[in-house]
Amino acid sequence: MKEIWSFSIARESLVKGRMSCVELVTQFIHRAQEFAHYNVWLELFESTALAQAQIVDQRVVAGQLLPLDGFILGIKDVLCHTGHGVTAGSQILKGHNSLFTTTSVSRLEAQGAIVLGRLNCDEFAMGSSNENSSYGPVLNPLDATRVPGGSSGGSAAAVAAGLCHASLGTDTGGSIRQPAAFCGLVGLKPTYSRVSRYGMLAYASSFDQIGPITHTVEDTALLLTFMAGKDSADATSSPEPVPQYSEFLTQPHKSLKLGIIRETLDMPGLDPEIKNWFDQYINQLKESGHEIVDISFPYLNHTVPTYYVLTTAEASSNLSRYDGVRFGYRAPDADTIEEVYFQSRSKGFGAEVKRRIMLGTFVLSAGYYDAYYTRAMQVRRKIADATQEALSKCDFLLSPTTPTVAFELGEKSKDPIAMYLSDIFTVQANLSGHPAITVPVSGHSSGLPFGIQLLGDYFSEANLLSFAQQVMQNNWTEPNRS
Ligand code: GLN
Repeated sequence: MKEIWSFSIARESLVKGRMSCVELVTQFIHRAQEFAHYNVWLELFESTALAQAQIVDQRVVAGQLLPLDGFILGIKDVLCHTGHGVTAGSQILKGHNSLFTTTSVSRLEAQGAIVLGRLNCDEFAMGSSNENSSYGPVLNPLDATRVPGGSSGGSAAAVAAGLCHASLGTDTGGSIRQPAAFCGLVGLKPTYSRVSRYGMLAYASSFDQIGPITHTVEDTALLLTFMAGKDSADATSSPEPVPQYSEFLTQPHKSLKLGIIRETLDMPGLDPEIKNWFDQYINQLKESGHEIVDISFPYLNHTVPTYYVLTTAEASSNLSRYDGVRFGYRAPDADTIEEVYFQSRSKGFGAEVKRRIMLGTFVLSAGYYDAYYTRAMQVRRKIADATQEALSKCDFLLSPTTPTVAFELGEKSKDPIAMYLSDIFTVQANLSGHPAITVPVSGHSSGLPFGIQLLGDYFSEANLLSFAQQVMQNNWTEPNRS
């Protein structure tokens, strides 16, 4: 990893006076220009970032550093930041400026972090490849012919390319973990309610969580410590106390009970190399003193359909506010209020968003509500109960994060079902609300990384991070990045 890419190295340079924060931000601005073809930044907050860097430099001189001074962050384009645009990767919000700042972002800024800009993503966070962004696809910095994953594709690619130290993404069905896995990074979806959603443009409110994408488990622990916690602006945020997550990373390793869901390894679309690697890793874990618990989770094939019924229902409601009147784009030639709605929404939303609004409207419609929405809510309950039951038998559930490594640009964009199945292992944690983290692993013959997902009990992030650290140390070799 190059020097400035790592927060801990950059921080040391600041403290030792080898580099100023203004120089650090300037270097990142130059890199943004050099790697503009990756298409990650939708807006660079150049002047505000440099102004904040000057303030950091004053604190350095005064010897009064805050914990995140020198941390350069990118935020997914669904997180509002006062004075800057926010579009959710959509034309319908083109030109819209945020009126307030996302709580988790302002909490990080209060500790010294600098937000360098907002990052490309699938439109309204709907997608698995970033190809649904109306601002064009993002390239995977590890192989520019491949997708970075989605929907937080810009967030993952920016970190992977060394264009910021870490980023914030959002995860409704896998959108932090899947792109982190495709780009060789750590990505955490916290327990539902652990991090305030205030300031995030909602996709499916009972699933959405904000979380970090980082190079290291240390950086995830550090960011989560400051992001998490009760927020009076989000009634669903939890009052559960927030530990100093970093302190758990140095705990001595103990032997654990690790649950393997049999059905995940039998999934037909699972890349045989990933499966082999995983089988061998299970043996290795046994040899190093962990107990492997065989878990059956008969609902695996129901997770993706349940997710699509419920999230599209919630999306059809959440996205009804984009009506051409209140925010963003308004069709110029509409004569009546109905035409304003119809034309603005027809032109402003892209194909995938329209598909999901229509699906969601259908499953909520009077004649079909019970057959789809009510039924899917019942299945969601069963999935959550079965997951909790599995976790009563083990400390964590382990699985691959995705069935494949990063796929080629265009490979799945014509086949929504194939695209949807790339989230088969990740949606479970969103349906149940459990925390889950992906840790990067090396060893695929393509040279590309893949991820191992660890899923834990509600609010078990401290233990999850501690084990994630161990898994990463044993299985990850940093690839050469330009
Ligand atoms: N890829 C999934 C989808 O298309 C997940 C998206 C997300 O987590 N925001 O819905």
